[in-house]
Formats: sequence, structure tokens, C-alpha cells
Amino acid sequence: MHYDFLIVGAGYAGSVLAERLATQSDKKVLVIDRRPHIAGNAYDYYNEDGILIHLYGPHIFHTNSPEVFAYLSQFTEWRPYEHRVLAEVDGQLLPIPINLDTVNKLYNKNFTEEELAEYFKTVGEPVDVIRTSEDVVISQVGRDLYQKFFQGYTRKQWGLDPSELDKSVTSRIPTRTNRDDRYFGDEFQFMPLHGFTKMFEKMVSHPNIELMLGTDYKQVKETVSYDQLIFTGPVDEYFDHCYGKLPYRSLHFEHKTVDTEQYQPVAVVNYPLTNEYTRITEYKHLTGQEHPKTSITFEYPQSEGDPYYPIPKPENAELYRKYKQLADSTPNVHFVGRLGTYRYYNMDQVVAQALTLYKKLVGAESLEEVVNGSGTAAK
Ligand code: FAD
Ligand code: UDP
Repeated sequence: MHYDFLIVGAGYAGSVLAERLATQSDKKVLVIDRRPHIAGNAYDYYNEDGILIHLYGPHIFHTNSPEVFAYLSQFTEWRPYEHRVLAEVDGQLLPIPINLDTVNKLYNKNFTEEELAEYFKTVGEPVDVIRTSEDVVISQVGRDLYQKFFQGYTRKQWGLDPSELDKSVTSRIPTRTNRDDRYFGDEFQFMPLHGFTKMFEKMVSHPNIELMLGTDYKQVKETVSYDQLIFTGPVDEYFDHCYGKLPYRSLHFEHKTVDTEQYQPVAVVNYPLTNEYTRITEYKHLTGQEHPKTSITFEYPQSEGDPYYPIPKPENAELYRKYKQLADSTPNVHFVGRLGTYRYYNMDQVVAQALTLYKKLVGAESLEEVVNGSGTAAK
């Protein structure tokens, strides 16, 4: 059997490309994944107690892209869900992102929005050029809030001080002077009604797509016949780490089911100052599932293990640039996804990146055209 495309990785990057190539361009595609399941890090399943959980930690869908939302909506119905997170600080559970209620409860104050904006001006420390994840927070909310909410959490999560990480990391979390306690500000905030894995099943179910799970690229690269390769694993691994290893941060997940209906008031509670884990997730808040028991996950950051996060800092970006040059000069091989392009991307960004690669492959004019499937026969 000869394939038009071999796709390594059945996460968002691989599955979106497989779906478009198979359904819109009539290409024969083989998708392999070394894990025994599809959906990559977004994989969810019903555990032994019958509760829907995320094997690789909490995944919440949010996007500002109408194209990405329209694209995924072909494969799932949605459940409206706005994510809220609390952080345990000084014995209280306080809203994060930092907002008016966070500050008033923490310091026992009664600030108005205007007064809080003034307060931030007095405690924020001027930084000439904002470069690091420390600069971002210190300049906005000052040292005390920085230490309580960000420094400890970041040191645990990354094994690095915020001063060693790019500004992009803590910039993910806004600071607000109003009472909006939603974790994300995006226009579209939903969970797939029947879970992520069901959505992926619909994406990759097509006669032109063959799936081989539990299979590493190394096992098939000499034996499978194909024209083009789409690689969504770690880019440095593809090139046998020829310039040295790109650093990734890993996690250990401890999953538990407890015999109580609700464990905590919101889906995620962060522990910036105490414990070795960073956060606890309770899935029923995300999925809306009703069940007499509840399942939770503790996340313990670690340096060894599956590569979950690229680490955004200048030396790593420099090393990635060398791999990128090599990638760009490797014919008929396309690198895409969080690991393939060493980018700290959310799910929607990976979908957009994959649709953009498809657009390039077929010479389409716009993402809208790619999503609607008009006039896109692959060249
Ligand atoms: P992946 O999902 O990692 O898929 C790559 C696949 O390739 C994997 O299944 C892997 O097994 C396979 N693979 C790699 N190398 C090989 C090989 N050599 N041979 C065969 N198979 C291989 N995003 C959000 O938008 N919202 C969230 O709330 C959110 N929460 C997250 C929480 C955690 C703990 C983590 C780690 C990530 C979170 N993300 C979240 C990010 C999200 O997981 C990613 O953006 C998305 O899953 C990336 O898709 P991908 O296809 O690039 O990579
Ligand atoms: N962060 C923090 N304290 C928090 C939440 C986040 O210091 O309570 C920092 C931390 O460095 C974290 C980054 O902000 O890694 C991004 O947080 P996010 O929740 O987006 O991380 P993810 O869900 O991707 O792990």
C-alpha cells in the first residue's frame, strides 16, 4: 500500500491535517501514534468509576478564531463553559487572574475599580523593557502579589524563576481591575459535549485515513511507502538531537476518584505557595457530568518524562532556530504542532497552524476557504 501522506501523531496537528487531506483532497493518509489512543494530549476517557477524565491534565477549549471554531464544530456539539480558577494564598481561596475581589479579599480592603487601578500604579515597579515573566507581573501588580501568586507557582511548574522565562509565559494570565473572574477572555469558550476523544473519532473516521496506534515513527519509517511526511512529534527527536536536546518540561499526573459528590468549588485550584503539585483539577465542573463520586488530578512538574511543554527562554529559541533551518531545508517533510514547532501553543492555535499548513499544501486563498472546503484539491 502506498500513501500520499504519512502523518506522525494523532493529536490536533496530525488529526486536522489527516481530516482535511482525506476529505477535501482525496489523499490516502496513514496516521501513526506511539500512544495507544488518538487525540494526543487532549485525550479523555471514562475511568473505571465511569467518570470522564483527561489523562494528560485539564483541557479547556477557548478561541477568538471563528474559523477554528467553525472547523471543530463540524465534529462536535458544544457545552458552554467558562473556566474559573482559584488560588490558595494565605489560607484563602482567591480568584486568579488577579482581579478586584482577589485584592480586596487578600488585603481585607474595599477598593473600587478606580482605586485598584491607582493602587496597582503605586505598587507596580517600573520596568524599562519588559523581557521576562517576572517583569510582566512586577510591573503590573508589584512584588507582593507577584510572590504570592506567580513566583512560587512558576518555580514549581518550570523549575525556573520567572526572571529566567520569556515574558510570554506569565503574559498568558491577565490582570484585571474589575470583578471578571473568568480564566480566559476569548469570544468562544466551550467544551465538546461528548468529550475531546469523541470529537477526534469523528475527525479521523474516513475511508482514506488508516490509523496505526501504539506505533513509533522509527518502527515504520523504512517500511511504509509515502510521498510526504507530516511530523508532529518533537522536532529535535526527528533529527536525532543533532544539535543537542531541546528542553521540555514534563508532568506526573496523579489521578484519583473520591467518594464525595464535589471535591472543590471550581474545576481548578492552584497552589502557588504550598505543596509539590501545582494544581488540582476536578473534571465534573468541566464536563457537567453528574455522578455520586468525583475524579480529581494532581499535577507534579518534573524535568524527565513525556515532553509536555516547550520551555520559552532565549537559549532554547536559539537552539530551535537551528532545527527550524534544518526542517525548512528537508524536502517533503512538514513540521507542525506544539512539539514539531517548539511553541507553547493552546489547542486552538495548533488547529489554526494545521489548517494554515493545509492551506499552503493546497494553495488555498484563506482559512475560511480551507474550513468551508471550497476549491481545495491538493497539488
Ligand atoms: P500532541 O497532542 O502532543 O500530539 C502529538 C502526538 O504525536 C502525541 O500523541 C504523541 O504520542 C505523538 N508522537 C510524538 N512523537 C511520535 C513518534 N516518534 N512516533 C509516533 N507518534 C509520536 N490547550 C488548550 O487550548 N487549553 C487547555 O486548557 C490546555 N491545557 C493543557 C494542559 C496540559 C497539562 C498540557 C500538557 C497541555 C494543555 N494544552 C491546553 C495544550 C494542548 O494539549 C496542545 O496545544 C495540543 O494538544 C497540541 O496538539 P499537537 O497535535 O501539537 O500535540
Ligand atoms: N501562573 C502562575 N500562577 C498561577 C497561574 C499561572 O504563576 O496561579 C504562571 C505559571 O508560570 C504558568 C503560566 O502562568 O506556567 C501559564 O499558566 P497557564 O494556566 O496558562 O498554564 P497551563 O495551563 O498551560 O499549564
